[in-house]
This record gives sequence, C-alpha cells and structure tokens, in this order.
Amino acid sequence: MNKEYKKYIQSALSRRKENKRVVHRLKKMKPALLNKLINNMHAEAFEIIDCLECANCCSSISPAVTDNDISKISKHLRKKPNKVVQEYMLLDNDKDYVMNRTPCPFLMLDNCCSIYDSRPLACKGYPHTDHNKMHQILQLTLRNTEVCPAVCYIFERLNSIK
Ligand code: SF4
Ligand code: SF4
Repeated sequence: MNKEYKKYIQSALSRRKENKRVVHRLKKMKPALLNKLINNMHAEAFEIIDCLECANCCSSISPAVTDNDISKISKHLRKKPNKVVQEYMLLDNDKDYVMNRTPCPFLMLDNCCSIYDSRPLACKGYPHTDHNKMHQILQLTLRNTEVCPAVCYIFERLNSIK
C-alpha cells in the first residue's frame, strides 16, 4: 500500500472515538438519505484512491467464499471444486469458506487478482460503501476503516459534516 493510503488508515485509527460518534449520528438518519450520502462519498473516494496502488483488503483480510464462488473459481482454474477447496480455502469459525492464507493466494505481485473475472462476490462488493442498505452495515463499515483507505476517506468526510 502506498504511503499516502497508510496515512488514511493511521489517521482513522487515531480518530476511533470520533468515528464511533459518527456512526451513532448516522444511525438516526433516514435510510435513503444515508445511502445517498455514503454512496456519493464512495464515488468521490474512488476518484482519488486506486485499488491497484493499495490491495490492502486482498493482503490482510479474506472474503467469505460461497459455493457459487467456488464453482466459478473451479471453472476458471479448470480444477475440480474439491481441489480448489483443498488448495485455497479453509472453514472459519462461522463455517464459511475463506481463503487459507493472507495475502490471498490469487493476489499477484502487481496487485492484480489472478481470478479477477471469477473473484468471489464479497471481493466485488468490498468495501460495500456503494451498498443500498448502509444502515445494516454501519458497524462493519466502521471496522473497515482499519483496512480500507477509501472507507477512511469517507469517515474523514463524514466527520467534517457537523
Ligand atoms: S480473490 Fe482476488 S479480489 Fe478477492 S481477495 Fe483474492 S486477490 Fe483479492
Ligand atoms: S477496496 Fe479499499 S482496501 Fe481494497 S484495494 Fe481498494 S482501496 Fe484498498
């Protein structure tokens, strides 16, 4: 991850209390307005943040991988689903499949994903700030300030609105 993006994460970590207060405030907003506010900031964030300069999600956390994802990956790799599971997955405490290591086994040195067109749905959606049910994922979004500089940017913007 480039230095500038690391600073976003460090700054969000130092503002944990303020960010918790922001979440508390956002919970009181009407769902449609909340979606619009955060979805617009998401678009703004990704105008200045380039995932290929970052890859911190792929390097440090794993997506949940569904059976449907496994089937797509197995076609992409031309390997049987059980081989894909054996080679790349493990079951977490919630009994969901996740990648068996971080950085993700499909992350390449240039920060591209080697199975990009067949990547899990959770990867496609991350960091979920263009979601249309933001009310339901506010706590998750707050936790994502520890991983994603774009989410940190969004929280900086939210903090500036009083
Ligand atoms: S599958 Fe691709 S997009 Fe998903 S975590 Fe791995 S490298 Fe990243
Ligand atoms: S989604 Fe966030 S953490 Fe993942 S690569 Fe893009 S900016 Fe980085």
